[in-house]
Amino acid sequence: MDDFSIFVDNQSNSFIHMNDELTTEGSDKYTGRPTNLQFERKFFNKKIDCLDKGFVRLVDYMGTDASIVQAARVSYGDGTKTVREDKKLIDYLWKNEHLSPFEMVSLKFHCKMPIFVARQWVRHRTAKINEISGRYSILSEEFYVPDKNNINSQCKDNKQGRGEILSEVDASNFLHHLNNSYEQNKIAYELALEDNVARELARISLPVSTYTEWYWKIDLRNLLHFLKLRLDSHAQYEIRVYAEAMATIVKALVPYTWESFEEHTLYGTHLSRSQSNLIKKLMYSEELTQEEKDKLKMIFK
Ligand SMILES: Cc1cc2nc3c(=O)[nH]c(=O)nc-3n(C[C@H](O)[C@H](O)[C@H](O)COP(=O)(O)OP(=O)(O)OC[C@H]3O[C@@H](n4cnc5c(N)ncnc54)[C@H](O)[C@@H]3O)c2cc1C
Repeated sequence: MDDFSIFVDNQSNSFIHMNDELTTEGSDKYTGRPTNLQFERKFFNKKIDCLDKGFVRLVDYMGTDASIVQAARVSYGDGTKTVREDKKLIDYLWKNEHLSPFEMVSLKFHCKMPIFVARQWVRHRTAKINEISGRYSILSEEFYVPDKNNINSQCKDNKQGRGEILSEVDASNFLHHLNNSYEQNKIAYELALEDNVARELARISLPVSTYTEWYWKIDLRNLLHFLKLRLDSHAQYEIRVYAEAMATIVKALVPYTWESFEEHTLYGTHLSRSQSNLIKKLMYSEELTQEEKDKLKMIFK
């Protein structure tokens, strides 16, 4: 039987993959869907702590590397007999940006994060979201307090970034004022609720560091796009922590896809026309001007 072919298992009446490396450990009793027990034992419904009070928890998922191969085989039909290994096929698909098969895998997370992190996160428009309602519920009055190792000065050369870690004294000062303001925020919120101010108004005294929660469902293609942007050193540390937690899960769920993602996207480099011309010049041992050398250095910075 062809490595990538699919057959109907007569007992469970389900579609099962035959490729050994991508075979999962069993199938769901009711749906016949292949299950990945080793992965589920480690990650399913398990909270991964993020920042001081947040977390990421995988609450549901559909698909594995095998689902990507399965979808790709359908679209290639008989025409691709030469592409024989699943891993190679996944790598080929990712490298050449044939990305729709990666949308066959979906993940649903329960996440708890400060509102300012959620503000950045929500810019990723392809996810489905349901968030706790501050109009309906009384919010938990939990605020993010950064660790001293993550309190930095303003970066000098990147207006959006952080510079050196602040001195112990400056960091303590910052935390002192921050905690005082949190106390004031809490009092204003509680007093408003006591005075029967509507919850949707009472909450406006709460800061953007207040923790919120949501369910966030996204397909693998768009999740990898999110991870590319939010694992990057230019992303704010606080959202990077969540991206790293999700990356751990994704890596375990779809190891072949993850390998290709690291190779071609996360640690790969995209070159502009003028940048590739510089590389060509170098290859043919032509002398580069200092300005050209500096430009090249910037690519691999
Ligand atoms: C380090 C960093 C700094 C940032 N700074 C700022 C900032 O200062 N100000 C600011 O406003 N934003 C900022 N952003 C947010 C950024 O501009 C994007 O909104 C965010 O990264 C989401 O990217 P996206 O649109 O590619 O992804 P998604 O919304 O997740 O979409 C994924 C892909 O789907 C496609 N897509 C989705 N929706 C549409 C659509 N409506 N039309 C066409 N194609 C679509 C696109 O191909 C897109 O790349 C920053 C992001 C990062 C990572």
